[in-house]
Amino acid sequence: MKQALQNTLNRRTFGCTGAAWVLFAGCPSRSSSQRGTAAGKPVIVATTGMIADVAKTLAGDLATIEQLIGPGVDPHLYRPSSDDVRSILRASLVLYNGLKLEGRMGDVLEKKSDNSPRIPLCDQLPQDRLLGHGEGDSAMDPHCWMDLTLWEMVSLKVEDAIVKLLPDHQSEITARGATLRQKMQQLNTVISEWMQTIPESQRILISSHDAFQYFGKQYKIRVEGIQGISTTSEAGLKRIEELVSLIVEQKVPAVFIESSVPEKGVQSLREGAKQKGWDVALGGTLYTDAMGNEPPTNTYLGMMEHNARTIVEALGGSPTPPPPPTPSANDIRHGSVRGAVS
Ligand SMILES: [Zn+2]
Repeated sequence: MKQALQNTLNRRTFGCTGAAWVLFAGCPSRSSSQRGTAAGKPVIVATTGMIADVAKTLAGDLATIEQLIGPGVDPHLYRPSSDDVRSILRASLVLYNGLKLEGRMGDVLEKKSDNSPRIPLCDQLPQDRLLGHGEGDSAMDPHCWMDLTLWEMVSLKVEDAIVKLLPDHQSEITARGATLRQKMQQLNTVISEWMQTIPESQRILISSHDAFQYFGKQYKIRVEGIQGISTTSEAGLKRIEELVSLIVEQKVPAVFIESSVPEKGVQSLREGAKQKGWDVALGGTLYTDAMGNEPPTNTYLGMMEHNARTIVEALGGSPTPPPPPTPSANDIRHGSVRGAVS
């Protein structure tokens, strides 16, 4: 019932601004819920906000983007509604993360379709760039968007799929793709520089669940999650005790909550550390498996910049001013979303 309520209540206009230097302000409004009403436009269904954002940036007004899993909603636990299933069946193109991120949507997403391609984007990344679970099975870590260089590859897959759908607009779509990838590369460089400003002994990122392995590898920071790679099972007392010991021994300055995961585990860490005489701060909220509702975290680039800035500031580094904005018409975007957190 809760999910049905979410799906009914939370269609909204997709915000159009992002991180200050990435995107420029200005957001002409347009009604959401346009699927099927935009005459002649193909409908692209994307599961997560991170995928929908790339698709919208590349397609612009040439297609209608439907995002199934909204801000603040955990994709590991998300169950598709009957509306979602209908959307998937009717879509011209379905883009999803894969690697079992959308664990409870697998039956619907993986079903073969004669009508439209269904693309598991992270499944198609080079195998040697994927990280393993480390949890006793052969499954891979699905949180690929946390490395900008991997998401750049994903954006190429999205671009190819949209060009196939709209071949008459190839040059327009590829130009947008090139601009997007340039921004991703710039942000990747900026984040790498920021992370280096954290004192080496404090480069430990502890958050609610193990979403940061790709981020940690790319930006050379040790990462520890309270819960594992998925949020489907709660963390045990043993894990909390391990992390409390780490925090106290290493004098970790801050721990982080995640917008799509309950903060109970993080609070347990803080209480545990306090009992052992170490005050660990709450470093802020990170957007990991879902983007935010408001700028700057309602775009992929904005979310990544916010996360990096929050981490660097809380762990004793110094995020220097970013490069000046390079706005383009492509920065204005709209769309529809449902399944948002209420
Ligand atoms: Zn996750």
